[in-house]
Amino acid sequence: MFEADATVLPRLMNCNGSHAMGGALAPFISGGDEGEAARYAAAILASGQATSQQLRGTKAPNGFFITDEILENVAEYVLAIKQDNAAFNAVWCDVSFATDRFKLTGIADHISFVGATLYIDKLVFGWGIVEPKDNWELLALAYGWLQRYGANAVVETIVMTIHQPRPSHVLGRQREWIIEGKDLLNRYGRSISEVLSAPSKTLRTGAAWCRKCPALKRCPAAREAAMNAVDVASQAQNEVLPDEMLGQELDALQAASAAIENRLKALQDDATYRLKNGAVISNYSLGSEETARKWNEGLDPSFIKMLTGLDVSVTKMITPTQAKALAKQNGIAPAVIDGLSRRDSKAPKLTRVSANDLAKHKMKGN
Ligand code: SF4
Repeated sequence: MFEADATVLPRLMNCNGSHAMGGALAPFISGGDEGEAARYAAAILASGQATSQQLRGTKAPNGFFITDEILENVAEYVLAIKQDNAAFNAVWCDVSFATDRFKLTGIADHISFVGATLYIDKLVFGWGIVEPKDNWELLALAYGWLQRYGANAVVETIVMTIHQPRPSHVLGRQREWIIEGKDLLNRYGRSISEVLSAPSKTLRTGAAWCRKCPALKRCPAAREAAMNAVDVASQAQNEVLPDEMLGQELDALQAASAAIENRLKALQDDATYRLKNGAVISNYSLGSEETARKWNEGLDPSFIKMLTGLDVSVTKMITPTQAKALAKQNGIAPAVIDGLSRRDSKAPKLTRVSANDLAKHKMKGN
């Protein structure tokens, strides 16, 4: 039976042949260890199992410390996913299901069903921008919920939201994509079933899904795309581009740059691995560096003070976002904290956004 996790669907649906290239099809967590710890902290806070004060400085199950930065960044997500009057409301919800041809596993960060609307929320802690639109992982999680829990549910609308607190984005830190329930079943769900039932061997490159592909360093399609990208980037351009062509040129160069960057990173990882195992690679060797000095495991300020007489502790204010959550818990209006804090504008950053999404965002703001 073919098995896949929802996290690999963005790659598998776009490049059916990736499954045949070898490498793990096991789940991976966006944002690495820190992202996994952030998702854990968010689930604990959202389910009311602990407060942020209780979580601060503790370790997530993967051994990563829950830092102030993690708590600050997940606070807004926890407030945003709060749903009253939901017929179904769960964090870290298992939506895995199987047919006689395939098994699809998936854990949703948050799912709720209110009225006839299904809400799927995903917290992304990494810096690489993740969009909700046409996001096969979110679609698979929604489809999995329908298969597993939604036999009698009338789902008219599905709202899929990416919560990405760290990188700036013209559409904000929470970006949503809305589809009709019938489209999920008839269009997207059917495509997922077809691909998982009999995945083809066709390879198709794309920056978004090749980036984390375990087969990237040996993939013939990716090698060709990178070489084509070098050609595109090497073509001399000395005329002034009209405005309408500038966007197209930026798109083309961004795709070329991502193809080269992805392949370069995969080959650098491969070279590092081989050098560690004694290979000789011309013009390359491994340098070694030390990290900044850190305290040994298990030490705390009181122990250091007892040994040395030095007070190494720091008293820190919690952030305004954490204070808003605290205010809410204590029956104080979060607007009080708004009045005591501010948001500064950052330098404008060029961000790619479709005309449709931009129009919707502007209408929401009015
Ligand atoms: S590197 Fe890209 S094209 Fe090659 S198998 Fe992976 S996803 Fe497919």
